[in-house]
Amino acid sequence: MTSVQPHQKARALKSSSRRPAKELCSECGLCDTYYIHYVKSACAFLNQQIADLEEQAHGRSRDLEQPNELYFGVHQSMIAARKQEPIAGAQWTGIVSSIAIAMLNQGWVEGVVCVQNTAVDRFQPQPIIAHTPAEILAARVNKPTLSPNLSVLEQIEQSGMKRLLVIGVGCQIQALRAVEKQLGLEKLYVLGTPCVDNVTRAGLQKFLDTTSRSPETVVYYEFMQDFRVHFKHEDGSTETVPFFGLKTNQLKDVFAPSCMSCFDYVNSLADLVVGYMGAPFGWQWIVVRNSTGQEMLNLVQDQLETQPVTSKGDRHNAVQQSIPAYDKGVTLPMWAAKLMGVAIERIGPKGLEYARFSIDSHFTRNYLYVKRQHPEKLDQHVPEFAKRIVSQYKLPD
Ligand code: FAD
Ligand code: SF4
Repeated sequence: MTSVQPHQKARALKSSSRRPAKELCSECGLCDTYYIHYVKSACAFLNQQIADLEEQAHGRSRDLEQPNELYFGVHQSMIAARKQEPIAGAQWTGIVSSIAIAMLNQGWVEGVVCVQNTAVDRFQPQPIIAHTPAEILAARVNKPTLSPNLSVLEQIEQSGMKRLLVIGVGCQIQALRAVEKQLGLEKLYVLGTPCVDNVTRAGLQKFLDTTSRSPETVVYYEFMQDFRVHFKHEDGSTETVPFFGLKTNQLKDVFAPSCMSCFDYVNSLADLVVGYMGAPFGWQWIVVRNSTGQEMLNLVQDQLETQPVTSKGDRHNAVQQSIPAYDKGVTLPMWAAKLMGVAIERIGPKGLEYARFSIDSHFTRNYLYVKRQHPEKLDQHVPEFAKRIVSQYKLPD
């Protein structure tokens, strides 16, 4: 039975302008609902509690002595996969949408929290609870902006729904797990994606204007395993820009402060995670965290081509060199960036080592950000696993 009373009392607190995490708020949507009542303990940016929530979701927290768990969190298995028949217009091959559709079609859940875009703006998120496969399909592809996915939580209790799938990124899932027991559900399934470097809608425009040759026609982009950003345009053409050619000096303040202080890149609290960064180019990377996640994956197994995950190269030098370069906002001329991109693609880290490269680069950057901008938060906010990862590198003051 759900205890409605505290939520109703909290209605008085509800206000779209109220964000206790202030500039660190990732607009996860919790504070748009009466669950704002729980914000002090639930917000990922006010109360970092990943280890405790891992225990709650998976029955144990990650084993810090186990190298893959240190990086990728609690898991039973990892594989690379792609759909035999990819979903047109999905971010990668549409494994996320396919799992959600199968769960709905087979009656495992009554609704799916996912995010469509608004009618007027391809990149403006519009969270919904989908009740049909068509609504799930309409939510395919990333909205590469902060999205208030949890803003629909009140509708769950009001509708009397008992079995729900939520698709979301790490900060949304941390807050969701923290209030899970208040939602009155019999079963909650969580399908997560990794997430990093997200932006506000205005920040996204700056990124597109600074980086793409034709910002107004971009329909999709992804930072890919070949060390390039791939933009897809309305006419179907693809544009690639090497990471090392990004105008770091102009883009330094484009990422949301929440994402500059996030250490849950791999979505530690989802049952199942579907990303790309630990898989070969063109494939998706799947992390099964618990038996619920395995059951969810089994539902679409016959639609997938799979291969084991692999790991090649050594990321450490590349990460160490990138730390002062990013810090000083060094931007290479495009010819040099392209040359460097070709070289690193040939000899650089691949598979799980690429994922570690990306985690190390972002954790060192974010650790420095929190240390400089919010020194009083550093110790509590940075999880133990991230402290260990960062300690491999020499950081500037
Ligand atoms: P699809 O079938 O196309 O479905 C995409 C799903 O994502 C939809 O169900 C939709 O509801 C959901 N979604 C879209 N936008 C958002 C949003 N803003 N917030 C929450 N949910 C959303 N993977 C990596 O391996 N490394 C990364 O660095 C990485 N960064 C990401 C950054 C962002 C902002 C997002 C949203 C995802 C990121 N991913 C990353 C995941 C990856 O890009 C794909 O989303 C994932 O592999 C699923 O692909 P798909 O084709 O199966 O998804
Ligand atoms: Fe509220 Fe979410 Fe922002 Fe935290 S991140 S202040 S829970 S909306």
